[in-house]
Amino acid sequence: MGFEFTNRLKKLPPYLFVEIDKAKRIAAAEGRDIIDLGIGDPDEPTPKEVIDALHKAAQDSKNHHYPLDQGSSVFRERIARWYRERFQISLDPEKEILPLLGSKEGISHLPLAFINPGDVSLVPDPCYPPYKGGTILAGGIPYLMPLIEKNNFLPDLKKIEKLALKKAKIIYINYPNNPTSSVCEKGFFEDVAIFAKKYNLIVASDAAYSEVSFDDYRPESFLKAEGGKDAGVEFHSLSKTCNMTGWRVGFACGNEKIIAGLAKVKSNIDSGVFNAIQMAGVTALDIADKHLERMNKVYQGRRDALIDGLSKLGWVIKKPKATFYIWAALPKRHKSSIDFARMALDKADVIITPGIGFGESGEGYVRFALTVSKEKIQEAVQRLKKVF
Ligand SMILES: *Cc1c(COP(=O)(O)O)cnc(C)c1O
Repeated sequence: MGFEFTNRLKKLPPYLFVEIDKAKRIAAAEGRDIIDLGIGDPDEPTPKEVIDALHKAAQDSKNHHYPLDQGSSVFRERIARWYRERFQISLDPEKEILPLLGSKEGISHLPLAFINPGDVSLVPDPCYPPYKGGTILAGGIPYLMPLIEKNNFLPDLKKIEKLALKKAKIIYINYPNNPTSSVCEKGFFEDVAIFAKKYNLIVASDAAYSEVSFDDYRPESFLKAEGGKDAGVEFHSLSKTCNMTGWRVGFACGNEKIIAGLAKVKSNIDSGVFNAIQMAGVTALDIADKHLERMNKVYQGRRDALIDGLSKLGWVIKKPKATFYIWAALPKRHKSSIDFARMALDKADVIITPGIGFGESGEGYVRFALTVSKEKIQEAVQRLKKVF
């Protein structure tokens, strides 16, 4: 039978981590002891309080039915309170907050609400892949905004071509940033809000790492910028905040019309987050501060172990202020990030992610995820001597 994939499906690049996972499985099948600094999935379990809350909520038959499309009011109200306390922003839980099946779901569905075929999304390059994938699935065209070190990995808004701007409907931003682990300077969100207003763009601010930060740095919300709520929505996730990647729960907040568009798409595709998981989400927000205080110290210790270790090998990397990634320019005599990552796996049994997997401007870099123990990170540094 000659089944044909759609053109839009054919246009999607292969999902990076699927390829890496394949290489990892082959290596594991050969019995090698692999240290995986590839995918950013917290290694520590979900906090016990959250698991207990799910356990309790799962016993309650009220929670066994279809969730409301707009999400549980208890969860939405808890999110509103979290936003008020964390960012001093007030949100209407009825109209400005929408629970998601993980923030990836909302990020990738947003274009279905606002991108017509041929319209453009402005996406950073390198970037978290769903900005491009969601745009392509909606029939849109991703326009790449290079993130380069000279500009502190911020997009240069003045360099975006006029023709692309004419067709652009959405601009994705992501700070603290994956994969570059950069944070944005004061004023950047304000600049983006002004730019978005001028060109009538929706700002989709991906704040998945807003709670993973070090030293005295505390990330801000885009919605706090002047005009932020008029221009955009912010995506949050309990995945990185509370070690809940497998639970699939996140939320979008911000502009009422954008939230309504996303909710309409979702009501035609999924039927919301399991109520018991939304109740566990309430507990996650209750305990987030306490959990993060410990977790961020753990990541900070690993960050220091990796960077201090690599610097002894002569590989000098700046310490990031947020996220659990290290974005490192390749050592001098290496050029291709794929060759370097393959060599790290073949010769050192260490998995790292080649920068080019996140987009062209990622070439020349690799990403380390700090989601294994400090001891393993130290061991990985020793092994990487062989490829440095
Ligand atoms: C991990 C991640 C997300 C989202 O994860 P979910 O588990 O879908 O909530 C979103 N954006 C970035 C940049 C991420 O790294």
